[in-house]
Amino acid sequence: MPTIIDLGSESQRLRGVSLIVGEGLCSNIYVIGRDRAVVVDTGVGNYVNPVWPQLEQLGVGPEDIEGVVLTHAHHDHASGVFIILERAEPRVYVHRLDTRYIASHLGRRLVRVEDGDTVPTELWPLEVFWTPGHTEGSICLYAREARILFSGDTVFPDGYYGRYDGESGSYEAIVNSLRRLTELEVDVMLPGHGMPVLEGAGEHIRRAYRNASG
Ligand SMILES: [Zn+2]
Repeated sequence: MPTIIDLGSESQRLRGVSLIVGEGLCSNIYVIGRDRAVVVDTGVGNYVNPVWPQLEQLGVGPEDIEGVVLTHAHHDHASGVFIILERAEPRVYVHRLDTRYIASHLGRRLVRVEDGDTVPTELWPLEVFWTPGHTEGSICLYAREARILFSGDTVFPDGYYGRYDGESGSYEAIVNSLRRLTELEVDVMLPGHGMPVLEGAGEHIRRAYRNASG
């Protein structure tokens, strides 16, 4: 079973946020809030990470999930949403440029988002930052007042950044996206893979931008 971490026990400003750690190729899954929970990314949704047992361990049942945000539509982040939709009826937020393969499966649950849109959560509003490069519809989610960034596969700890050689990837786009992210005030980075950065995340983002832009 994947490990579950109560991030609120590690950082005051993450009270109410939990991490279901992605194992193998599976993405991390972040759960924000409890009664009107918003889930950021969903893993591959197979036997490695069946999603529901972990959500239930967190006290989040089908009626408690209000939204799911996909940072992009790669299988390892997005396929778990179909397990969630077997029992719950959340809105599913995806950037319009990443909906090609999943729109028909999501039907009326799909909410197409754009740069500058806001996803409400119990804790803070999440600003949608369009950060193309890993895929053309990749997004990061920014909780401005708490200075928290959900960074998907765009930027990782220690100066790493997402691959841009996939089907809709672009080197120029990811460099530009990283540059935009350096302009945000970020203390906490919650990446799509690997462990969170709980303080000083802005420096990790600046390193990634320097590494990417050469
Ligand atoms: Zn990806």
